[in-house]
Amino acid sequence: MAGQKSAEGPTVVIRNARERQTLGEFATEWPFCMACGIAAGTDERQRMDHPRNLEIHHLTKIQRRHEKWNLMKLCKLCHDAHHGGGITVLNSRRKRIEIPGLTLANLLWIKRLLDPGNYDRQKMAMFMVRNVPVVRRPPSWYLEAWNRHRHCTHQRFLAIRAMAEKRQAGLYRRDGD
Ligand SMILES: [Zn+2]
Ligand SMILES: [Zn+2]
Repeated sequence: MAGQKSAEGPTVVIRNARERQTLGEFATEWPFCMACGIAAGTDERQRMDHPRNLEIHHLTKIQRRHEKWNLMKLCKLCHDAHHGGGITVLNSRRKRIEIPGLTLANLLWIKRLLDPGNYDRQKMAMFMVRNVPVVRRPPSWYLEAWNRHRHCTHQRFLAIRAMAEKRQAGLYRRDGD
């Protein structure tokens, strides 16, 4: 389903200077994938055989508003897993496995945990055709991916980790840890 270009299509329309500024700020604030934690500039394509460049995802597509409550930073792998599903990667034993899909409910769980200041269900409801789903913890594949990126020392990444670890539903704590 996901096309060869961006999962959201090739064109993102920026309507005014404020939107441009917001997109620029958001790109700077999130130099890693909010779903799996992979940092910008990390090329895991060789290892997993799927592009990992960072892209911006819009939670609601109506008017595709470039406002922070509507934005998520996702690597191409996680982005494709949300839009297309059926994405396969090579695991550490070079075996091809299908990774679980990322639903909107999963994305909202992540947005609420990592970016609570911009988590706004009321705004989402204004621009969503269907009801805003109840948040749902992502499949463990994504939580384990965060653990694989423990070596990332980017300041922002460390700050987000510290913040999230303090919160009850810490993203990095695997069940049983
Ligand atoms: Zn990712
Ligand atoms: Zn998207």
